[in-house]
Amino acid sequence: MELAQRITGIKPSVTLAISALAKAMQQDGKDICSFSAGEPDFATPQHITAAAKQALDRGKTKYGAAAGEPQLREAIANKLQRDNGLDYRAANILVTNGGKHSLYNLMVTLIDPGDEVIIPAPFWLSYPEMVKLVDGIPVIVNTDSSTDYKITPEALNAAITPKTKLFILNSPSNPSGVVYTRAELAALAKVIVDRDIMVVSDEIYEKIIYDGVEQVSIGALGADIFERTIVSNGFAKAYSMTGWRVGYLAAPLAVIQAASALQGHSTSNVCTFAQYGAIAALEGSQECVETMRQAFAQRRQVVLDRLCDVPGLSCAKPDGAFYVFVNISSTNINSLDFCQQLLEQQLVATIPGQPFGADDHIRISYATDLVTIEKGLDRLVAFVRAHI
Ligand code: PLP
Repeated sequence: MELAQRITGIKPSVTLAISALAKAMQQDGKDICSFSAGEPDFATPQHITAAAKQALDRGKTKYGAAAGEPQLREAIANKLQRDNGLDYRAANILVTNGGKHSLYNLMVTLIDPGDEVIIPAPFWLSYPEMVKLVDGIPVIVNTDSSTDYKITPEALNAAITPKTKLFILNSPSNPSGVVYTRAELAALAKVIVDRDIMVVSDEIYEKIIYDGVEQVSIGALGADIFERTIVSNGFAKAYSMTGWRVGYLAAPLAVIQAASALQGHSTSNVCTFAQYGAIAALEGSQECVETMRQAFAQRRQVVLDRLCDVPGLSCAKPDGAFYVFVNISSTNINSLDFCQQLLEQQLVATIPGQPFGADDHIRISYATDLVTIEKGLDRLVAFVRAHI
């Protein structure tokens, strides 16, 4: 059978594959330490699950508006005003099946065949695949530790061509954990405005930040950049709601109206009662977000303390998200082989940097308990010592 060209060029998600392999090995009775998770290991807070249960009991089980429940769109607009200083109305919000779906819908809505989309590397591995799915061209701009894995305004400017439509900004970043400062964002915003391109700001990790760093939304930096900005966000990481599949886009009206029409012909509304859980997440106490953030902060410190003096490894201190991106170049093993051997020899699951555009790195997720972290790091250190 001949499959469509658009799908044959797409790589399956390596992160999902390794997580699945680690889970299968665990089910076979192997004592796996998994640092592969892309999701918080906490239960969804109880007041959120209670709201969804109540919604079920109240009969919120029918089709709803394709763009989302009006009450949730309103709550998201309020949140963006309150937390991010972004002046959106409910009409500027599209509720989607998670942040991934937001970004995919945006690509379909914005990108014509041959349009270029600028993606700084290391990147979240789904970005280039989504661009390719709509026949766009991912333009990868490499970064390294010399600029803290951040794209500079000069590098962004140099990558822009007449075909450039969109720049993907992810702060805090998966996999590097970097958080752009207000000044850095202002400098990038100037390039975006001067060269008249759009930016999508993926803010899914906005609540998971450390050491008092400030989380700034690029769209809040002025009217010119606001009208060129699309925000993608969701409930998965901040509220530990990965399986609920609720996310959102916030954008100028024309983008939201077009993406709503797309959703009307593809997925229709997000699971109705899940949206009531999301409303409770935004309108209820935010203490649960802080409790989880503090747990991540403690684990991050343990990982950094252990890794910083291991010969052969180096890593930048992440300011956000729940990953440490470790440079393994001194081992002279590429990231896919490194992760495979580490899993086979030491039963430790990590994610190779190669699909993130950095084959000399691995990603360690510390969205797991401290006992697993300590044990897994002992094994990782033993593995590295044996290979340098
Ligand atoms: N953006 C980034 C950078 C991510 O890491 C993820 C999930 O791993 C998402 C977006 C999408 O999250 P979800 O679709 O679960 O809301």
